[in-house]
Amino acid sequence: MLEELKNRVLEANLLLPARGLTTLTWGNASGIDRDSGLIVIKPSGLDFSAMGAEDMVVVDMEGKVAEGKWRPSSDLPTHIELYKAFPGIGGIVHTHSRWATSFAQAGLGIKAMGTTHGDYFHGEVPCTRPMYPEEIAGEYERETGRLIAETFKCIDPEAVPGVLVYSHGPFTWGASPEEALCNAVVLEEVAFMNYHSLSLAPEKGSMQQCLLDRHYFRKHGKDAYYGQRVPRG
Ligand SMILES: [Zn+2]
Repeated sequence: MLEELKNRVLEANLLLPARGLTTLTWGNASGIDRDSGLIVIKPSGLDFSAMGAEDMVVVDMEGKVAEGKWRPSSDLPTHIELYKAFPGIGGIVHTHSRWATSFAQAGLGIKAMGTTHGDYFHGEVPCTRPMYPEEIAGEYERETGRLIAETFKCIDPEAVPGVLVYSHGPFTWGASPEEALCNAVVLEEVAFMNYHSLSLAPEKGSMQQCLLDRHYFRKHGKDAYYGQRVPRG
C-alpha cells in the first residue's frame, strides 16, 4: 500500500538527522496521498538508523492505522489537523532543530531579513501564541495543530510554509515530503542567520518588501524564472 510514498517519507525522515535537524528519535516527517486521504508517517520512538520503508505507518484522516506494525508518531494528530486545514499541502516535517527552536522558546517569529528567507518564505515565519492550560491538558497534539491553523487565519500557508510553536519548535510543510524537509532545512538556516544579524544589529527589522517580493516571485507563481524548466517529451 502506497509503497512509493512510504519510500519518500522514509527518505525525508532519514534526512532529519543527516541534515543536522534532530538527534535521538526526535522529529518526524509525513506525506499524504490526497486521492485516498491516507497519510504515511514515521513510527513512534523508533531509531532512525533502524528504520525501513516497511516500518512507516499508514493511517487515515481519523488516525486509524490502515497498515503498519508500529504505533504512529505521537505527533500524528497535529499532522492530521494541518492536512485538514491546509488542503494544498502534501508533506509535513516537525523537528526541534536548535536555532528555530531557540526562536520558538523566546516566543519570537523569524522575520524576513534577507534573500535566503525570501526565496522560500514570503514573509515572517510566525510564532504561535502560548497554549492555554485546557489545550495542554486536553487533546494536546490535536490542539497544537488547531493552534497552528489559527495562527494562519490571515496568512497563506503555501506562501509561508512553516511556523514556530511557542515554547516547542518548528513545523514546516510543502507540496511534498521533500519540499517540507527542504523548508525545515531553510528555516533552520535563516533562524541561525537572523540570530546573528540581530546580535550585530538589534534594531534591524524586516528586509525591504520589494526585495522580498522579487526573490519570492522569482521562484514561485506564474512568473517564476529561477531554475530549469522540466524538459518535455
Ligand atoms: Zn515536538
